[in-house]
Amino acid sequence: MTLRRMFLLIAGLVVLSAPIAAAAVPGPQRIVAPGLFGLTEIADGVWTDDPGRAETQMRMLASANVRVRAFFGELGPSPRMILCVTMMCEKTFGGTGNVAVAYGWQALRIPPKAFREPDLGVVLMAHERTHVELHRGWSLSALWSPPQPNWFDEGLASFVSRDHRLPKACAEEAKAWIRGSRTFWDWGDFVGERGWRDAYGAAAANVADLHARLGDAGLRDLIARTNAGEEFKAAMADLSGGWSASQPEWTGSPPGATRHNRR
Ligand SMILES: [Zn+2]
Repeated sequence: MTLRRMFLLIAGLVVLSAPIAAAAVPGPQRIVAPGLFGLTEIADGVWTDDPGRAETQMRMLASANVRVRAFFGELGPSPRMILCVTMMCEKTFGGTGNVAVAYGWQALRIPPKAFREPDLGVVLMAHERTHVELHRGWSLSALWSPPQPNWFDEGLASFVSRDHRLPKACAEEAKAWIRGSRTFWDWGDFVGERGWRDAYGAAAANVADLHARLGDAGLRDLIARTNAGEEFKAAMADLSGGWSASQPEWTGSPPGATRHNRR
């Protein structure tokens, strides 16, 4: 075998084995072919490991979409849905914490706890679908410089999904604190500092305050203007007639800074 032939053979094997290697490791890449991992397609793009409960699952999805449509109006193309009733399915697609995840605007994974408690399931499905509809208007640069801060992203998803687990009231101090969360990457620090209920609750309370002033149309306008490149704080102040600019700023350290200082 000539060196050139040997090289072509090795290159060919690498190309052929890459998808096999990717499929062999648990992770979200398996969402490309859920049928290979024991899931059944119960409706166009909706996959589950428990097709016997398809009717309940589709009813939950429909209820979730009603909530999201009530805010966004007509929804974009449905993302691929991975409905995992068992932890084995959750692990197959790279989940470890029994939490719902949106992958860009292409796919969602809904965890087992959603199917033990259908009310919660509807919230989780609506929450992730809200992220999908919001992220649809983003460009690639949103990964490091999102057009809306992360508190707005999580707050909107919690608000639109009507998350009944979150506290009804929220202190102004907590609202100012969570407004320090800018990117997807710093959100974990905020959740780590005060717990998920307070972080999501404070984010949702900020969005509820804005909604009380702007309504659905004003909030959608805020999203459209910031997706088109307008700076978030400026657009929010303009739409709220200066109200948002009068809100207290958080003066403490962001949780990430505190953690790094301790090291
Ligand atoms: Zn979320």
